[in-house]
Amino acid sequence: MALVLTGWSLAAGPPIELTVDATDAPRRLLHARMTIPASPGALRLAYPKWIPGEHGPTGPITDVAGLRVTAGGKALAWRRDPVDLYVVEVQVPAGVTAIEVSFDLLSPPEARGFSSGSSMTTQLAVLNWNQVLMYPAGTPSDQLDYKATLKVPQGWKYGTALPIVRETGDTVEFQPAPLTTLVDSPVLTGRNLRTIDLSPGSTPAHYLHLAADSPAALDASEDKIAKFRNLVRETGALYNSRHYRSYHFLMTLSDHVAHFGLEHHESSDDRVAERTLLDNDLWLQSGALLPHEMTHSWNGKFRRPAGLATLDYGAPMQGDLLWVYEGLTQYLGGVLAARSGLWTEEEWRQQIARTAAQMDATPGRAWRPVADTAIAAQLLYESRADRSNYRRGTDFYPEGALIWLEADTIIRRESRGQRSLDTFIQNFYGGPGGKPELKPYTAADLYAALQAVQAYDWPGFFRQRVYEISERAPLGGIAGAGWRLVYRDAPTAMDKSSEAASKGVDVRYSLGLELSEEGGIGDVVARSPADRAGITPSAKVLAVNGRQFTRDVMRAAIREAKNSAAPIELLVKDGEFYRTFPVDCHTGERYPDLERDASQADLLSAIGQARR
Ligand SMILES: [Zn+2]
Repeated sequence: MALVLTGWSLAAGPPIELTVDATDAPRRLLHARMTIPASPGALRLAYPKWIPGEHGPTGPITDVAGLRVTAGGKALAWRRDPVDLYVVEVQVPAGVTAIEVSFDLLSPPEARGFSSGSSMTTQLAVLNWNQVLMYPAGTPSDQLDYKATLKVPQGWKYGTALPIVRETGDTVEFQPAPLTTLVDSPVLTGRNLRTIDLSPGSTPAHYLHLAADSPAALDASEDKIAKFRNLVRETGALYNSRHYRSYHFLMTLSDHVAHFGLEHHESSDDRVAERTLLDNDLWLQSGALLPHEMTHSWNGKFRRPAGLATLDYGAPMQGDLLWVYEGLTQYLGGVLAARSGLWTEEEWRQQIARTAAQMDATPGRAWRPVADTAIAAQLLYESRADRSNYRRGTDFYPEGALIWLEADTIIRRESRGQRSLDTFIQNFYGGPGGKPELKPYTAADLYAALQAVQAYDWPGFFRQRVYEISERAPLGGIAGAGWRLVYRDAPTAMDKSSEAASKGVDVRYSLGLELSEEGGIGDVVARSPADRAGITPSAKVLAVNGRQFTRDVMRAAIREAKNSAAPIELLVKDGEFYRTFPVDCHTGERYPDLERDASQADLLSAIGQARR
């Protein structure tokens, strides 16, 4: 597809003026007001529905309240479209050249999800502009300009990629920008906010803006900051060009916002636990988050599957190529974490082992190909944990990462070490850079670009791994890189930090259970010993062999049963009912790890090596 959208130059005509009063953000309330140029007759106003990067219809329309439309001070009646519930229609009277639209956003407490999840505490707020504006329905977002003004709570500081005109007290006036750019440029604001220059003296500039629920949580060590600076240098070495004017990590440290990362061209919205910079387990578990989200500036924002490059926020997105958009990003996020030192090479390998084991113990792979998890992404992001290994979740991330590792090893092998996936990345994601651009692609474009790097049956390779079902996970990349997936009787450092950070007990490769620290059953692996014994997800394990459930009691019972014919007896509570299940599990403890295959070259070490 040759279509190249820019979206970073202004359209003709007066901009829509948008004022957002965030002084009530500590009470999880935003006040929005717009002046929209209009001419007499019917006017349809849309609230953004399909949110870029969230790959679904996630705009929080239910949290819009107090909607009022006026012209010259007189209220106009509005009526919601009965089919498209994100659109309202008003009749603009004769002689009117602009209307005023105002409403409040009721931001949710303690809610999961992406940006429509919890975004504000008494100490900080993440403002996503798509939640506080409306636009003339059906107009491409590149063709609408907005002049935004934001008032933050008294004394709060802020960070954003959106260029400003001036600050007056607590009011920030931004440069007029196309709607595409505005929605792509969230603002992080807070009482406790610290900005760190990650590429001092270099162009373009890179900043890490930290906002936290406590001043203490901002205390990143010099060693950690050095690793984030390494990440900036490693992305330069990997991509060779940068498609932004400046880059801003907006990192929110709070236990009371939704935890996720959301990519943008010139920034990323990275939300983690409050003590992530202080606690080693939390730090390790979020090691690939910033590399993943920054990678999206190239893979996802600059180059985007045509089905996800929609013209306005009312147009449905098609996610069939999310195994590239997210799967390749997941792979490169790990690679860049290793190259930057955010993970050691060993931690990166342990993470690959965890991913491979998880995908291999997914019985849902017998009915559902990875491609279908991508097409159905907008449903699966919100799907429940129970029986998720049978249903399958958004597996295009982890399984996509394994498939791209294999592609990398194939290019290295077939080119006898002359080329690698890095070569493809520099070709496919390169360009003049310097500012955001959008260059959509199709599967055919992708295969042609891979073919130009290394002659191979790429359509056949991806057809088999992505579009067809397979009982086993794609482990060819691990083998091709000189390693083997094995199971050991002790958890790896990454296993331990995952359990500590998530407060869970993971015995899914022996007993077949994922548990909370209190014994709550998140999921039961289909066809595992626990499943064959009849245990149901969402029930709760109260006791193991007659003794109250704890992580250590559970582990000890699994170890002891290895050398015994006796079953492990689990007392389980499901609703109001109690029952004891004898579980035949004599595997002993099992935790995935990678083991070196000395007959092959160690390509993982080569891939994870710093390039700086
Ligand atoms: Zn992503």
